[in-house]
Amino acid sequence: MAELVPIPLPHLWRRAVLEYEREGKIFDLPKDKFFRGIAGLDLSVSFHGRRAATPLGPAAGPHGQLAQNIVLSWLGGSRIIELKTVQILDDLAISRPCIDAANVGYNVEWSQELSHEQSLREYVSAAMLLEMLQASKLLGGEIPDATIFDMSVGYNLKGIQSKKVRRWMESMRNARTVIDELRTGLPAPYRDLPFPDRISDTVSLSTFHGCPAAEIEDIVTFLLREMGCHVCIKLNPTLLGQAEIERLLHEVLGYREIQLHPPAFENDLQFDEAVDLIPRLQSVARACGRGLSVKFSNTLVVKNHKGIFRDEVMYMSGAPLHPIALSLAHEFRKRVETPASFSGGLDAHNVASVVALGFVPVTTCTDLLRPGGYGRLIHYLENLGAEMQAAGVSTIADFVRHQMGRKDAIVAEAVKNPRYGWERNRGVPRKVGTKLWLYDCINCDKCVPVCPNDANFAYESAPRTIEYDNFELQPGVIRRLPGGVLRILKPKQLANYADACNDCGNCDVFCPEDGGPNEEKPRFFGSPETYRKQAGENGFYIDWKAHAIYGTFSGKAYVLTLDPERDRARFDTETAEVEIRLSGHQALGWKPKPGARPTEIIDMLPYFKLKLLLESMADPRHVHFANVAGLEEEVVHAHDVGD
Ligand code: SF4
Ligand code: SF4
Repeated sequence: MAELVPIPLPHLWRRAVLEYEREGKIFDLPKDKFFRGIAGLDLSVSFHGRRAATPLGPAAGPHGQLAQNIVLSWLGGSRIIELKTVQILDDLAISRPCIDAANVGYNVEWSQELSHEQSLREYVSAAMLLEMLQASKLLGGEIPDATIFDMSVGYNLKGIQSKKVRRWMESMRNARTVIDELRTGLPAPYRDLPFPDRISDTVSLSTFHGCPAAEIEDIVTFLLREMGCHVCIKLNPTLLGQAEIERLLHEVLGYREIQLHPPAFENDLQFDEAVDLIPRLQSVARACGRGLSVKFSNTLVVKNHKGIFRDEVMYMSGAPLHPIALSLAHEFRKRVETPASFSGGLDAHNVASVVALGFVPVTTCTDLLRPGGYGRLIHYLENLGAEMQAAGVSTIADFVRHQMGRKDAIVAEAVKNPRYGWERNRGVPRKVGTKLWLYDCINCDKCVPVCPNDANFAYESAPRTIEYDNFELQPGVIRRLPGGVLRILKPKQLANYADACNDCGNCDVFCPEDGGPNEEKPRFFGSPETYRKQAGENGFYIDWKAHAIYGTFSGKAYVLTLDPERDRARFDTETAEVEIRLSGHQALGWKPKPGARPTEIIDMLPYFKLKLLLESMADPRHVHFANVAGLEEEVVHAHDVGD
């Protein structure tokens, strides 16, 4: 299983600038998918007393995990960013795959996979990158930028009150030490920017299924009083009760194959308990001068009927959760007046009606795992803007007022709308029956945007046919042997940056070919350490200073070091060190390594693959995580800093 290794802030910045200048995109999101505001409209909202330029954001999940994910969410127009949940356990072993967004949306991933320290650095790095983007005026023009980072913590009182989680939240409230450490790696003038110390002072709380009402009350009181945070309590859909959810899921929506998990309904917070609890906590919040809100809703725990994950239960999101979460919100708000945010099957088509119901923020996840990825976000805001224009309003507050009388109708329409039902969501992405290999595929372009971490990337390699010889090596004797043919058919190739890939499986779901881009395409690691630890059957690491590429094919390790000025290469197999003349690819000499046999046969296929991969990665026209460390240019896009 691949382990996430955060990408250093200077590399993220270097890539953002070079990629934007050369290719008109950042982290593979093309600039026409960047949100730059909508003329004549003010989409800003207030969340816990702070202003955010739009009500939209990623729900705590894969899109708020790594710094590049947060920047991508922001570029698409997210301005209230719910960060991935942090809890006491920060060395979780999550089974893979962990996401199945083929149609409905299921997952078994829960909190951050990174350590507390790494999560802190990712969130601080993301906040710094956003400041740098604005200061550099790289994107040009005035972009509505007011952004709120919302921490998400879980899952019980003991964990949240632990020294580690407390210290983590305190560092998010005042990140001066981390900021000062990170700024030293930045180029001037960015290292001197006045980065705000406070990354976040709002918390969305996730609780374990079965967390008693009294414990939820204690956690929230602790977060309000002792941590001084504004709090949003994520409510579970189980609040609606098993009978009502079964009615909605099975009878109204037609998802008869989805089976509920009864213990979750028995042990979770009950509707009437929540109706008592929230007003009590609102009084506590008021007394502390903090805000309290609720969120409709968390994912729905269901029995694992698909056999994709190993766990007994899984967490459902996407289309069927939309009418469930809306119904719950509607019922709850009839009893309790409370600020509320929304999550559950949000997409570009329903975002305006959800915003019209007064939810802040409105958050999305499953939809962003589909083809287009973060590029889907801009359509949410365009559609919201179009609805506002049609209603003749220019602010979100006026839009909500304008739609006030339609609340019941909006919820009723969503519940009976066939777009959330089984018939419309039963299909799975088409597979074409061919297998992926290191080179070539049908170039459908899906695997890059569906990856929440931007771990997959495209590169160029000229189509060619290489007929090569192998060599037989004996002491003092080198003989040519018949070799084989390496064919590359397509100029556009795909690869994977393994340090940013956690093998979640999402790109495999959407790739029309079999095998998974994350497994079959060349997997590049960012350091010799991660390469050695995780290369397995297929892995590469480039040492740019040495002009060397390390590679593993079918579990066998090789190193190729190029010296074009001398027209020489050194090709290391596990048992031989071979000197090769680059022109003509002729073995000139060799030295046996421990374990070498009296006669060594050198298969030149790995040599050619390594050489082509190194040359392709060195191509400066394309900037990605696998080559950003090797691009030498000074990156200072700062002509406007300090204006
Ligand atoms: S490359 Fe594929 S498996 Fe890896 S993180 Fe991205 S979507 Fe998941
Ligand atoms: S690897 Fe699969 S998903 Fe990626 S471009 Fe090729 S065919 Fe499409």
